[in-house]
Amino acid sequence: MTAATKPILTGGCQCGAIRFAVSALPVRVSICHCRMCQKASGAPFASFADIDHESFTWTRGKPAAFRSSSIAERDFCRDCGTPSASAASTARGSRS
Ligand SMILES: [Zn+2]
Ligand SMILES: [Zn+2]
Repeated sequence: MTAATKPILTGGCQCGAIRFAVSALPVRVSICHCRMCQKASGAPFASFADIDHESFTWTRGKPAAFRSSSIAERDFCRDCGTPSASAASTARGSRS
């Protein structure tokens, strides 16, 4: 994403240390009921919006990361703990 690209969505963590901008609509929106998502969110399920890497940028701060399993890494604000992003290390094309 270049600086000239107008974001269609911005967001951030609870304390404001981490901010992000998205320049394209999500490729997919989903929820996950797996045990690790339940623990990470403290809820029955977690919701996700898949964004292409080139359409996403951190605009303030950088999140810390926790590797919750062999296939997933979960980003969060190190100051307030807000979950911010999740990356699967498996091929993103292999969606079921
Ligand atoms: Zn924060
Ligand atoms: Zn999950």
